[in-house]
Amino acid sequence: MRVAVVGSGPAGFYAADALLKSDDPRVEVDLLDRLPTPWGLVRLGVAPDHENIKAVSRAFEKTAARPGFRFFGNVEVGSTVSHEDLLELYDAVVYTVGAQTDRQLGIPGEDLPGSWAATEFVAWYNGHPDFQDLEFDLSHERVVVVGNGNVAIDCARMLALTDEELRPTDTTPEATDAINEAGVREILMLGRRGPAQAAFTPPELKELGELAGADVVVDPRDLELDPASARALEEDRERARRNFEVLEEFARREPAGKPRRIVLRFLASPLAILGEDRVEAVEIGRNELVEEDGRLVARPAGETEVVPAGLVLRSVGYKGVALPGVPFDERTGTIPNDHGRALGAERTYVAGWIKRGPSGVIGTNKKDATETVEALLADARAGKLARVDSTRSLEALLDERGVNYVEHEGWQAIDAAERGAGEPLGRPRVKLTAWEQLLETGQRKITR
Ligand SMILES: Cc1cc2nc3c(=O)[nH]c(=O)nc-3n(C[C@H](O)[C@H](O)[C@H](O)COP(=O)(O)OP(=O)(O)OC[C@H]3O[C@@H](n4cnc5c(N)ncnc54)[C@H](O)[C@@H]3O)c2cc1C
Repeated sequence: MRVAVVGSGPAGFYAADALLKSDDPRVEVDLLDRLPTPWGLVRLGVAPDHENIKAVSRAFEKTAARPGFRFFGNVEVGSTVSHEDLLELYDAVVYTVGAQTDRQLGIPGEDLPGSWAATEFVAWYNGHPDFQDLEFDLSHERVVVVGNGNVAIDCARMLALTDEELRPTDTTPEATDAINEAGVREILMLGRRGPAQAAFTPPELKELGELAGADVVVDPRDLELDPASARALEEDRERARRNFEVLEEFARREPAGKPRRIVLRFLASPLAILGEDRVEAVEIGRNELVEEDGRLVARPAGETEVVPAGLVLRSVGYKGVALPGVPFDERTGTIPNDHGRALGAERTYVAGWIKRGPSGVIGTNKKDATETVEALLADARAGKLARVDSTRSLEALLDERGVNYVEHEGWQAIDAAERGAGEPLGRPRVKLTAWEQLLETGQRKITR
């Protein structure tokens, strides 16, 4: 059986691995990605100072070494090839394309220069080739980060790292210099709901208190809980309680006078981003929590204030993007599915963020992809995946269309070049960040 897996992030690799392990039927997997490089957000999302988390890529490379595996980089489904092309060439298609865009705040001034989606900032410092021309003006004293999840924490922490903390990472040299030279003194994080509802995980929160170059500041008054939150916290054994304990410890601290500070504020929403031609300030409204359908939601409490700021990073969630010819649910930003079987599309399956939305850690995608592959293999054994009698191959189609695709050997050449450039600098790698460089290096070791 031949299966195309589209998207080489964690979900794509876990799906490929589960497929390649199958004996009944035996499966060959072509893993496609629109980028010349694999690993999805493990390469281009996970913060560069979390090298230990990026180490999961070693498991991906083991999958890539399995017989029957092939990688095709620089192949975008929806432009280079279509869904219909893939249905013709393969017995089944698994989409693991992640969540490629950001959710909007829906407030005035959101599009002013200086207001960015966290997606853009993250992609920039991680060396994503589509985001290297962006110019983040870090000369201003205050940056506002909107959101209370781990991505918001990543953005705040990256802005606060010292040269010693940044140098041993694979942050791009340009981003390293820009952060080092930044005039930023305060990074203000805004959480719409209270400290008991924050979405970040305790280790990531705790890390903010361990930075060499930044104090972390929490106003003890922000930790005075309403009765419903206090009750919820009493009952919680895990994340919320541990987060709260970390925040209590932060609130007891005296600032040590480090060059930067990260201020965490709760029950605070941006109402408008203000400025003539660019971001100059943020109007912040104080919230209160009210119970709605058994859930505590934030409602404006009436008080507002204007806080000067030169840069705003909006980190309120990622969102999936529709693929031409494949069903899509605009509301959830996912491909509608039943345990991984795409609804209303023959021989089509989904896993990862495009299946369940942008939540969970890297490992969550393993269970998720395994469920999908079990459904696919069950359908194959039940004879539902009518074998396509195609005499064409993907390579032939790509050659016909003049596509400069990158195979796994080409990616290995990119990988080796990047690691080689990093070594003398004590960095794990210096990423190639320009399309031309990536494509050129990716052609080097192709032997066909
Ligand atoms: C900023 C950030 C930091 C994170 N940090 C951590 C962390 O520290 N620890 C942790 O456990 N988890 C972390 N996560 C979560 C983790 O990255 C995700 O759970 C995981 O990457 C989701 O996997 P995925 O395969 O669904 O999507 P992705 O990793 O996004 O992979 C999708 C792939 O599909 C490709 N693609 C998209 N569209 C197309 C198309 N049309 N044609 C071909 N290819 C396409 C993309 O180029 C990409 O390679 C983080 C997430 C973010 C956003």
